[in-house]
Amino acid sequence: MRTTENQLLVIFGASGDLTARKLVPALYKLYQEKHLPEHFAVLGVARSFMTDEQFRKRVALESKHIKDSDEFIAQFSEKLFYQDLGDSYDVSYMELNERLQDLNTAYQTDNNFIFYLSTPPSLFEPIAKNLTAQGLNDEREGWKRLIIEKPFGYSLDTAQSLNNDLHRYFKEKQIYRIDHYLGKETVQNILVTRFANSIFEPLWNRSYIHHVEITNAESDGVESRGGYYDKSGALRDMFQSHLLQLVALIVMEPPLSADPEEIRNEKLKALKSLRLMTDPEVLEQNTIRGQYLASEIDGERVNGYREEEDVDPDSTTETYAAVKFYVDNWRWADVPFYVRTAKRMPTKVTEVVIHFKSPHHQIFKNSNINKDNKLVIRIQPDEGILVKFGVKVPGQGFKVERGNLDFYYSSLGDTHIMEAYERLLLDAMQGDATLYARADEVEAAWRFTDPILEYWKEGNARIYGYSAGVWGPEHADELIEGKGQWRN
Ligand code: NDP
Repeated sequence: MRTTENQLLVIFGASGDLTARKLVPALYKLYQEKHLPEHFAVLGVARSFMTDEQFRKRVALESKHIKDSDEFIAQFSEKLFYQDLGDSYDVSYMELNERLQDLNTAYQTDNNFIFYLSTPPSLFEPIAKNLTAQGLNDEREGWKRLIIEKPFGYSLDTAQSLNNDLHRYFKEKQIYRIDHYLGKETVQNILVTRFANSIFEPLWNRSYIHHVEITNAESDGVESRGGYYDKSGALRDMFQSHLLQLVALIVMEPPLSADPEEIRNEKLKALKSLRLMTDPEVLEQNTIRGQYLASEIDGERVNGYREEEDVDPDSTTETYAAVKFYVDNWRWADVPFYVRTAKRMPTKVTEVVIHFKSPHHQIFKNSNINKDNKLVIRIQPDEGILVKFGVKVPGQGFKVERGNLDFYYSSLGDTHIMEAYERLLLDAMQGDATLYARADEVEAAWRFTDPILEYWKEGNARIYGYSAGVWGPEHADELIEGKGQWRN
């Protein structure tokens, strides 16, 4: 069991949405569950002016995201402090450093500092640089860690240059690139399902698997994030980061041990084995993009993407992306992977479905159902795992129907399932980077995504409209063998 050493957590962007909605509630849960060290404090930092008391009210005392007795929340909020940076950077960083040192002494946090950058990405490099100018990257007396929010880069070039910039100030082992999908219990369970059991791994290859399907469907539109989303799109927002991380966990070879570097080495190898698509014909046939159109859902009109707030009325940004690709290695040769992510789908679901091949020889006439041997890894909602297989219908003859073996995390009763941010914050506090993406992994994921983005950017690929509330453009069905399989 890892220990959580005394430490001080500094959150940049502390007046923002993520801090109030996710980070402080996650810290509170860790406090409730007694995971925080004896000596611990949080310093929120942003440009807006707030007193400590105003900050505490905003993120803890009056937060609708934290539920508990007033007394307990008040105890926790005494660990929260706030420092405004003003606009004048260098002067403010000197003041920030003084405040840090004061809190470090008062709260006995042993010079162990985590800097969580929950700010616009353009500030990642300047903050790292300013911290370094104050000697706050120096680990001679206590460790220093840097957590970087997503998005990490906008393309391979920008991700590489951000990595280079950060490496000028912090060592790779000090940098934690967050991908909150990796903090989800079911995502980690992929490793356990595969490598703690002997029943799945022998089948986990091209001899038994027909294809792999990964779906991330959201029923919401872009909501208030139109401005950000219109510059990003589905491929950058979800595919390059979260979904390729899932692909890596499905594709990777067994690591030598559960050591973070061993796991990340295997994930890197997996990402490097994805076949790059550079030929326009291949890109045309294997990628589909779409955009949701105005529609009626439950009798109410829903905006089309181009009508959303802060979205260009002529926007060609995709809200639907589907990609078919292959993995060039011994285990996966010729097994197609189908990955799709979209907004305004009929339901909200993220799942991985491993489709197994049918038996080589059929002896039951009504045996189509055997084609349905599937392993479903449900990431959200109803986190769990499901095996679908053929069972005999009671009675005469051999009529086969689909049966299920399932496990849902909700069946664990009162066990507290950590939210992704709780898990990831605790890991970083304990110096465990297993669930954080390494520089080379992020670059490998961009290397695969870039040619698709380039092809789409040049206006070659058509953008298909789909009505809000349906399973994407009909044309996408043609991507997957057996038309219609993607319609749930
Ligand atoms: P917000 O726009 O709500 O907040 C941004 C924060 O950055 C504010 O506190 C702002 O405060 C601060 N800021 C801006 N300029 C500076 C500066 N020069 N120095 C210090 N602080 C500054 O963004 P979010 O909280 O939504 O997102 C933060 C990060 O997290 C982004 O990188 C985003 O992509 C990522 N993220 C957010 C998610 C979410 O659900 N919100 C989900 C996944 C990732 P002020 O104006 O007072 O300086």
